[in-house]
Amino acid sequence: MTTPASSSANSLSGTPVVPGVAAGPVLHVRGEVSPDAIARFGDGDFADAEAALAAYDEAAVAVAETFSAKAADAQGAAAEVLTASAGLARDKGLRSAVAKNLQSGQGPVKAVQGAVEQFVTIFTNMGGLMAERVTDLRDIERRVVAHLVGEPPPGVPTPSEPSILVAEDLAPSDTSGLDPALVTALVTERGGATSHTAIIARQLGIPCVVGAAGCMEIPAGAFVVVDGETGVVEQGADPDEASARVEESRRLREELASWNGPASTSDGLPIKLLANVADGPSAASAGTEPVQGVGLFRTELCFLNRKDEPSVEEQADIYSDVLSPYSDGRYVVVRTLDAGSDKPIAFATQEGEENPALGVRGLRLSFGNPGLMDRQLDGIAAAAERTGTETWVMAPMVATVAEAADFAEKVHARGLKAGVMVEIPSAALLAHRMLEVVDFLSIGTNDLTQYAMAADRMATDLAHLTDPWQPAVLQLIAITAHAGVEAGKPVGVCGEAAADPLLATALIGMGISSLSMAARAVRPVGAQLGKVSFETCEAAAEAALGAPDPMAARAAVRELLGH
Ligand code: PEP
Ligand code: MG
Repeated sequence: MTTPASSSANSLSGTPVVPGVAAGPVLHVRGEVSPDAIARFGDGDFADAEAALAAYDEAAVAVAETFSAKAADAQGAAAEVLTASAGLARDKGLRSAVAKNLQSGQGPVKAVQGAVEQFVTIFTNMGGLMAERVTDLRDIERRVVAHLVGEPPPGVPTPSEPSILVAEDLAPSDTSGLDPALVTALVTERGGATSHTAIIARQLGIPCVVGAAGCMEIPAGAFVVVDGETGVVEQGADPDEASARVEESRRLREELASWNGPASTSDGLPIKLLANVADGPSAASAGTEPVQGVGLFRTELCFLNRKDEPSVEEQADIYSDVLSPYSDGRYVVVRTLDAGSDKPIAFATQEGEENPALGVRGLRLSFGNPGLMDRQLDGIAAAAERTGTETWVMAPMVATVAEAADFAEKVHARGLKAGVMVEIPSAALLAHRMLEVVDFLSIGTNDLTQYAMAADRMATDLAHLTDPWQPAVLQLIAITAHAGVEAGKPVGVCGEAAADPLLATALIGMGISSLSMAARAVRPVGAQLGKVSFETCEAAAEAALGAPDPMAARAAVRELLGH
C-alpha cells in the first residue's frame, strides 16, 4: 500500500504532480465489468472454439478501433499511449494465448482473463516501462470482456457537472477523452509522478494528486478540494472559501502561461531553461517556446520500434532534424543511447537480465559493443557539422570517473562538448572528480531518485519514495551543484524535478545553472523563478535540504515563497 504523507479525518494526501486547486463533487471511475453480466453470459453460446475465437477477434478489433479513434482525437503523449494500446489489443501473441485457452475448453471470458494474466506476469517481470503497461493490459481485458458480454465499456462516466475524478488508477483510454471543463482534477490511489495519469493531467493542465491512499473511500458526490501543489485532498471545506482558492489558482495559472522569458531571478541572475525532446517534431515544437535550447534529447526514443541499428548516415539525418531548429545560436544536449531497463531497444538491449535497472543499460552497453557508441557519436558529429548547431553530448548511467574520462575523450575527438549524466549516487558523490574530465554535468533526477532510494521509478506503490524532494536525493543534487560552482562548469537538471516550479527555486539556490523539462512546463517554471531573488532561492535550498521529509520540504519552500 502507498503510505500517505499525512492525513486527517477530513483530508488525505498523496504525491502532488500537477499544481493548481480544483473543487467539486467526487466522481468515481467504474473499473470493472458487472459480475452479474459476466455470470449471465457464462461460457457464451458458441458452436466450437473457432466460433468463440471469432467472437474474441470481433471484440478485440472493436476495442482497438475505439483506442485508435481516441488517438486520432488526441495529441502528443496521449495520442502515443492510445496508439500503443490499440496495438496491444491487436497483439498476435495475446490472440494466440486466447486461442490456446479456448482450445483447451475454456469459455471466452476465462480465456481472455487467463491470457491477459499470462502477459501481466511477463510484463511485470520485465519491470520498468513494460510493467507500467500492465494498466493498459488490464484495461484491454475489461473492455474486451465488456464487449463479449454485451456491456458498455467500463471507465469514466460522463460528468453532468464539473467534477473531481477519483480512481484507483487510470488507464490512458480513461483519461484521453477527458474534457478539462468537466473533469477539473484527477486523484488516484496508485501511480507515481511518471504514471500515465500524471502525464495526461499535465497535458490537460488540470491539478493532479497520485498515490493518495484512501481516496476511493471518499463517497461519490462528496464535495472535495484538491490541491495539486500540496497533494492534499480535503473533504467538507467551506464552498465559498474553496471557490476563492480555485479562482486564485486559475488566475495564477493564467499569469504563468503568459510568461515569455528569458529566465532570470527577480534580481537578474540569468537561468537557462531548456526543453526535453524525443525526436524532430518535438524538437521543432519545443523550439517555439521560450527556451535557450534542448537540455535532453533522448536519442533512444527514436529507435523504440527499430529491429536493426540505423546506419551512421541515417542517424545523422534523424539527429539533424532535432538540431536544425536550434541553429539560431541556441544549443542542444544530445544524450547517447539509454537503452535497456525501462526503454528496451531491440538492437541494443541485453536480453534476459535478472535486474535490468541495475544491468547493462545506458553507457554500459558500449562495454561489450564499443562500435555502437562510436557509430552514434559519428552520427551526432555529422549532424552537428551539417546544421551548425552548437552540440553537447552526454552519456547516461555513468558510475565511475574512468567511464566519464573515456567517454569525454571520444566526444572531444569529434570536436564536441562532453558531459555525463548524474543518475547514480556514485556519480553525485564524485561530481568534483567527474568535472575534472568533462565539460558539464546533467542530473537525471528520475534515476538518481530511483537509485538513491532503491525504489523502482515505475512502482506505483512506492511513489512516496520515488520523490525528488526526499532529503537524501536533495543532498546528492546539492553535492553535485556545489561541485559545478567550485569548478566553474555548468551543472543542469534534466529529470522531472526541473519541471516543478517550487523545487526549481531550491535547485537554482543550490547552484544549478540550467533546468531542462517538458516544453509545456517551461513557462510556469520561468514565471516562478522571475518572482524570487537569488537570495530567496538560496533560502529555499536551505529550507528544503533541512526538512525531514518531502512533505515538510515542500511546505517549507512554499512558506518561504509566500504560497
Ligand atoms: C532521469 O533519469 O532523470 C532522466 C532524465 O533520464 P530518463 O528519464 O530518460 O531515464
Ligand atoms: Mg535516466
